[in-house]
Amino acid sequence: MNTAYLRAENVEQAIGWLQRHPQSRLLAGGQSLLPMLRWGLGEASHLIDLQDIGQLRSIENAKNDVWIGAMVTHAEIARHPLICEILPFFAQVAAQIADAQVREVGTIGGSIAHHDPAACWPAAVLAGQAVLVTSERQIAADDFFPGLFATSLRRDEILLGIRVRHGVRGAYRKHEHPASRFAMPGVALARMPEGAIRIAVTGLGQGVMRWQAAEQALAGRFSQHALDDLDLPAHHAESDVHASAEYRCDLARVLCRRLVASLAGEDPEPLLPKRSAAPGLPPTALPAAFTPTTGLDSTFRIQGEALLAASPDVIWQAVLKSEVLQACIPGCDQIQEVAPLRYEAQVRVGLGPIAARFSSQVSLTVIKPVSASRVAHFLLQAEGDAGRLGQAQATIDIHLHPMAQGTRLTWSALPQLQGQLAQVGQRLTQISAKRLSEEFFTRLSAILGGEPLASVRRPRWSRLAHAFRRWCHRYTRKKGEPR
Ligand SMILES: Cc1cc2nc3c(=O)[nH]c(=O)nc-3n(C[C@H](O)[C@H](O)[C@H](O)COP(=O)(O)OP(=O)(O)OC[C@H]3O[C@@H](n4cnc5c(N)ncnc54)[C@H](O)[C@@H]3O)c2cc1C
Repeated sequence: MNTAYLRAENVEQAIGWLQRHPQSRLLAGGQSLLPMLRWGLGEASHLIDLQDIGQLRSIENAKNDVWIGAMVTHAEIARHPLICEILPFFAQVAAQIADAQVREVGTIGGSIAHHDPAACWPAAVLAGQAVLVTSERQIAADDFFPGLFATSLRRDEILLGIRVRHGVRGAYRKHEHPASRFAMPGVALARMPEGAIRIAVTGLGQGVMRWQAAEQALAGRFSQHALDDLDLPAHHAESDVHASAEYRCDLARVLCRRLVASLAGEDPEPLLPKRSAAPGLPPTALPAAFTPTTGLDSTFRIQGEALLAASPDVIWQAVLKSEVLQACIPGCDQIQEVAPLRYEAQVRVGLGPIAARFSSQVSLTVIKPVSASRVAHFLLQAEGDAGRLGQAQATIDIHLHPMAQGTRLTWSALPQLQGQLAQVGQRLTQISAKRLSEEFFTRLSAILGGEPLASVRRPRWSRLAHAFRRWCHRYTRKKGEPR
């Protein structure tokens, strides 16, 4: 798609263009949007540049709060005298973002609107209970980040800036990725003017979140020791090439303790707290959460199960039919059987902000054939080529356990991505795979329950869109729908 460049002189003009061109995108610093477009991970008919809109570039001290315009860059925030004096917490966050080049052009508004799950600003504005001011309304930070790469901004709504109340104090720490400096994870802690403590964690993989258990623990006693018995459960995080979910959550816990220790004037405890060490081991022993994973398998294997109201034989006969597979596989535009148990398919898959179209080969291998009394076992191997975006492979182990009524189907898979998909999509693989397989088995259940294929397939895009809209990209968003 050819992309036209438009430079808005004011907010009204930008909104008019957004409404007139449904495939247009707002352009702030371009540090997230342009790489996505360059890599072919999204499309834009028009880029609407906001840099000439002075209203979006100001920092002001109002009666009750500080105003930071959406187009203010990270670097401007880091060095602005007013921010350094009244809101040093935000200057500290800005100074930790990326490198000098990115900080000079990347903006606070672009970062908040993009809601990368590893970005720093979402944690700061959520902890600092900022108010996000848009062209239509004011949105509390608590209501702004519904999920990964998603915000409550509407398609033709522009973030104008944020307001942070006077008297908000805070601090931010992250364990940064050595190449990009994105948080993996990062913890922002703020004390409100009336004394309440708010903690927000980013970089866990599912979008920014409040850690309310820690807030409550600190409300009674502001000391790192108030957190002694507290863990951040691993289900809040995702595993990826860089770290397991357990590791990320434990890092967030350690970062939070260190933040509290420094703010409370306490000596920080060593990185590996005694509490986590196994009983009887010396204090320097690695706690379980810091034990390196034993390789790809334990980090990336995903698994699940489904209870289906049909015998293993009926299920097996159903999945052998290409029309059933096409109806069940989300995003499958076309599938054909090219040889017994071998298929070729065209499948569109969303990985966070990426929409990739795969030409895929799928094969089924029977390890233990279906029987009424024994567990059946087969392998589904899939290889997909998404052109210049890269390739994906997965081997899915499937077991059918006969039960008195129906079948328990268990599956586990080891998805792997190569090329650009791996760089951008690997951290999203697990979430996508989980949702796609849930959708697959929901549809298979419906078909086995007698629902016609056409009706299972018909809501495919709307169901997918609904599932993805809550957590993924802005490239497919439609007018009037939340991002
Ligand atoms: C090498 C590198 C390292 C980085 N490291 C970090 C890091 O350590 N921590 C961190 O937090 N970030 C990091 N970033 C991201 C950086 O902070 C970007 O500045 C930020 O993610 C996006 O801001 P932007 O101004 O470039 O927005 P753009 O890329 O221009 O836009 C991003 C998205 O927001 C939308 N948008 C922009 N402005 C508005 C608005 N006013 N209203 C509504 N929608 C809007 C756009 O349409 C687009 O969808 C890094 C980026 C790079 C390239």
